[in-house]
Amino acid sequence: MSAQVGKLTGSVAFIGLGRMGLPMAANLVAAGFDVTGYDRSEAARASFAAKGGKVADSARAAAAGKAIVITMLPTSAIVASCLIGDEQALADVAPGALVIDMSSSVPGDTLKLAEVLEARGLSLVDAPVSGGVSKAVDGTLAIMAGGDAVDRAMPCLEAMGARVFRAGKLGAGHVIKVLNNYVSAAGALAAAEALIVGRDFGLDQDVITDILNASTGRNNTTENKVKRFILSGAFNSGFDMSLMSKDIGIAAGLARDMGLQMGLLSLTSQEWNAATEALDNGADHTEIYRYVDAISHRG
Ligand code: NAD
Repeated sequence: MSAQVGKLTGSVAFIGLGRMGLPMAANLVAAGFDVTGYDRSEAARASFAAKGGKVADSARAAAAGKAIVITMLPTSAIVASCLIGDEQALADVAPGALVIDMSSSVPGDTLKLAEVLEARGLSLVDAPVSGGVSKAVDGTLAIMAGGDAVDRAMPCLEAMGARVFRAGKLGAGHVIKVLNNYVSAAGALAAAEALIVGRDFGLDQDVITDILNASTGRNNTTENKVKRFILSGAFNSGFDMSLMSKDIGIAAGLARDMGLQMGLLSLTSQEWNAATEALDNGADHTEIYRYVDAISHRG
């Protein structure tokens, strides 16, 4: 990478080097950013160092002096604890620094975080992603960004995504992200039920999938997940069921807080919560099929 690209792009802290964060941070490095990463897992830090990133031994040390701090963490609570709670990651950032929260967070918590940052002269952009691990690796994520400081975030976001959408005001990215995952999760549940009803009638599940994919019932699960992760028995898409369940719960809570009665959203949230409780910790979200298969034969 030329020195000029490095100079143009600047230095960034990246906190959360998990299944998504690691390849996203690696793509920033490949694009010429000077990235210092932190994850509480030593193995994740070592993986990032192996990809050419710098690593720090705390979130605060990673963010010290940086004008941009990116988070890709499991939940809003962890983002807050890391940035403004116990870990105080923002204590030594550059004046006027920008935080980009790319986690799938709770929109209301994003607004509360923004208030705290604003009081310190710092800015926040919410920029969650869709596309899963494979698109994180390829740098072809869909990114949905909210807030007034999106322009400042754009060079970083464009290094990680194929399309960066300006979703609207602060929190808009986090809203559309959980709505997207609700629609995706409802489709996955419908696909699982169709596969089981069809199989029990005697149909071949590969044939069911081929017909759905050539017909109006196709969706992202039928096209990209059923054969690869479900019928193969691999159940290794890289997106945890608990994270999917969290996202649908955020969407359901959002609707409730707005006084909206959404029947299918409530039901989808209940089903995914029940599946998450029934399966092992760390189950992949494609194991929704295993859950539906088990409960549908209870009699
Ligand atoms: P992950 O569990 O693989 O990674 C999370 C990482 O955060 C882990 O490496 C963990 O050690 C680290 N971490 C947790 N607490 C920390 C702390 N206090 N300080 C530093 N590091 C900490 O999760 P993921 O799949 O990479 O998901 C990250 C976010 O992206 C979530 O909000 C998720 O909902 C969202 N998301 C995931 C996918 C996917 O396909 N996996 C797709 C889109 C969005």
